[in-house]
Amino acid sequence: MMLLTRKMIEIRNILQEISTSGGGQSLTRVQLPSIVVVGSQSSGKSSVLEAIVGHEFLPKGNNMVTRRPIELTLVNSPDAAAEYGEFPALKLGKITDFAQIQKTLTDLNLAIPDSEAVSDDPIRLNIYSPHVPDLTLIDLPGYIQIAAADQPESLKSKIASLCDKYIAAPNIILAISAADVDLANSTALRAAKRIDPRGERTIGVITKLDLVDPSRAVDLLQNRNYPLQMGYVGVVSKVPTSLTTRASSGLLSRFSGSGDSSDIGSVIAKNEELYFGRHPAFTRALTDTDDRTGQQQVTLGVINLRNKLMRILERTMAKNLQPTCDAIHQELEETAYQFKVEYNDRPITAESYLAQSLDSFKLSFKEFTGKFGREQVRAMLKSELDQRVLDLLAQRYWNRLDEESTSAFSPLDDIAIKAILRPVSELPNALPDDVYWHRQLDACVSNLTKSGVGRTSTTLVSNALSGEMEHLVNSGAFKTHPYVKTIVQDATMEILSSRFYSTADQVENCIKPYKYEVEVEDREWSRSREHAFALLKDELRQCEAAYYKLQRSVGGGKKLSQVEKFVERNRKGVVKMEDANEVYGFSQALIEKGREGLFLTKRADVIRLRMQALKSKQCKSKDNKYYCPEIFLDVVADKLTQTAVLFLNVELLSDFYYHLPRELDARLGHGLGPQQMENFAKENAKVRRHLELQERKQKLELATEKIESVIAMQKTTRLQPA
Ligand code: GDP
Repeated sequence: MMLLTRKMIEIRNILQEISTSGGGQSLTRVQLPSIVVVGSQSSGKSSVLEAIVGHEFLPKGNNMVTRRPIELTLVNSPDAAAEYGEFPALKLGKITDFAQIQKTLTDLNLAIPDSEAVSDDPIRLNIYSPHVPDLTLIDLPGYIQIAAADQPESLKSKIASLCDKYIAAPNIILAISAADVDLANSTALRAAKRIDPRGERTIGVITKLDLVDPSRAVDLLQNRNYPLQMGYVGVVSKVPTSLTTRASSGLLSRFSGSGDSSDIGSVIAKNEELYFGRHPAFTRALTDTDDRTGQQQVTLGVINLRNKLMRILERTMAKNLQPTCDAIHQELEETAYQFKVEYNDRPITAESYLAQSLDSFKLSFKEFTGKFGREQVRAMLKSELDQRVLDLLAQRYWNRLDEESTSAFSPLDDIAIKAILRPVSELPNALPDDVYWHRQLDACVSNLTKSGVGRTSTTLVSNALSGEMEHLVNSGAFKTHPYVKTIVQDATMEILSSRFYSTADQVENCIKPYKYEVEVEDREWSRSREHAFALLKDELRQCEAAYYKLQRSVGGGKKLSQVEKFVERNRKGVVKMEDANEVYGFSQALIEKGREGLFLTKRADVIRLRMQALKSKQCKSKDNKYYCPEIFLDVVADKLTQTAVLFLNVELLSDFYYHLPRELDARLGHGLGPQQMENFAKENAKVRRHLELQERKQKLELATEKIESVIAMQKTTRLQPA
């Protein structure tokens, strides 16, 4: 039973998770022995590995397809329903199709640009199967003699130094050489000899034995130039041509089919058995033993190679057990110390971090709800309606047909209104029952009440809420968490849009009575009188500011009034527009500014006039509403606002404030899976470091526990009588 290797593979996987989790330093000190496969290009390296695994899965092609080390972990799994591979770093899940594994490996290798050609960043691949032994093998880029035209000059030495790094102790070197190439020229054997001169860690594999005379083959396997303590193994690891040529008929596909025990490994083994059996030279060599050790001198065939690798790996693991254990222990001690110093041993989980972040977000949300209530909604809506009132006043009262400038800047497009428009300066002296002024005000009121207050107000509040939520996620506990931000924003949008239409309808329904009649009380009138005056005052201020800006843009007030004068005289027919440039030197753009200036001057005059009117005795009484449209419209706007706010507050605001935290609990509290939670937590660099150091510590503790139990197990086995 190769129990030790199996246990050590488990430990190795735990340790690998530490180095693949990112962020943390890798475990330089701990090195579990592996079998490292080196050989020149085309020496048959891939064929040997695939014969051991039983499947074709390595990248093939002329264009240097192995560019990164492939750390291959074979796990014997007797109960595996299917054979499969896993790339632990890629999180692609179980891959049962070996052609897919081959494609992934090819893609990963070819991702290294031609200019770089090789990289020492390993690809990790685990293969689980009832037909593989427990083994860890590292496949390296094949040695090359000379770099091809499109490869960097340094490639040869780059590959050599990558291989040197891996063939260092305590790894076992599997040096592959082809029988049809002079062994003295084998780059693999030469490299091994340099690093392992006494041949203690090297196994020689001679491939393509079928290409040389059997007696020569036996000679090669007894290589006296570089004797290896673990010997040489001869293989014929090529799938017989008779099968490959029939592959299209589906015969070979049977060998790569999952779960079939007749994998290419057994086909090769059968083929080898026939080949070696046919030649007496091999049978003779197998019976020869070493005079000194009494051991069989040569080993033949992939199956024997496989068994040998298992035995040797197990032995090497056993030999390295204590040093490995010590190294893990030392890593653990350092990590534990760091965790204590940096985090005072404070444990953290992704879940607790999420809960904490959610609480803090809810707290800032609560603060916001305290600041954005009925009063704020009222102010927001009122200011929107104020603007509408000003627009209506401008349309129906502040424009005068006798002035060209008004039509140039007025939003007025209704010809009928235009035709009957009278100057507002006439208003204070109009007769109380002058139908014209009655119609103007009634039209304004109707326009205001029917302007879709339901929709407008609901949109306003919805936008304000979603805007504030956006601000909250971007500034609060979730600011570094893009995924959760989207969840909060989605929840916000869903709650708001699910209530939008019903709220807009309700508001519209409630303001309906104002479409027919608006009753005014004295108190309301005098309040609106003040407000309307303030509104006009602000409008005047804006007008004056715009005029001042215009003055500066033309180079002074004097210039502007000259142009204004020209425009005015042109309107009256005194001067011709054609003369503007030639005679007066006014460009078209300047003339436009003159028009705007004239408009602003007159708008300011009208507003001043109306401010005076509002102050007059006439506007003191609500009975004179037709004389004071500004006040009456403000009363209407105020009533519309009050009523709308009543419903917005209940239907939208309170409802949103109630539901959002609950919705977030559902979506974030219980809605995220463990992986999502971890991803979330690790988006925060500080938390990520904390979590990773803690994970590192936990994994090292687990590895220590496991390796100690392996050592204990070894001891009891040794103590037991044979
Ligand atoms: P790598 O480049 O070292 O991985 O070599 P491959 O395994 O791809 O083999 C190179 C070529 O040698 C391929 O065409 C194989 O089919 C062939 N080959 C591999 N092993 C043997 C063998 O034992 N006998 C024969 N005749 N050919 C082999």
